[in-house]
Amino acid sequence: MVIDQKRKTIGSMLSVELTCNDEHVTHWDSHPTIKRKPVGNLLLEASILFTGNSFARVKSPSLMSKLTVNNNMFYDTQQRFLFPILNEKWENEQQMVQQQIAVKDDVNLNGEGCCDSHGHNAKYHTYYTDG
Ligand SMILES: [Zn+2]
Repeated sequence: MVIDQKRKTIGSMLSVELTCNDEHVTHWDSHPTIKRKPVGNLLLEASILFTGNSFARVKSPSLMSKLTVNNNMFYDTQQRFLFPILNEKWENEQQMVQQQIAVKDDVNLNGEGCCDSHGHNAKYHTYYTDG
């Protein structure tokens, strides 16, 4: 028989601790964790960043406030998990391109720049080349 029940949320994860009348304690979490980080929170925060959004832009009462993911959690996840993943992917991509062009006699580089997107001011400029 359960005599005590404690609930807490960590972002979108529900964590429950139950105590029986023999003082056995059991835990249940709605998400698995990686390095103590609820995976559902990680996926949610990754989906924001990897779709080109920001926390402030996506934050809406209907989504984020119910999931209780906050600014600090989001930016902490960016620093600890998401940016290192992006950097690793970028470095791998660079190596792959360098290996591809190293075996070619000639390389033709074409470029394009974009300093605006629909409905937004020109805050960032993106320039890319394609060979
Ligand atoms: Zn028990």
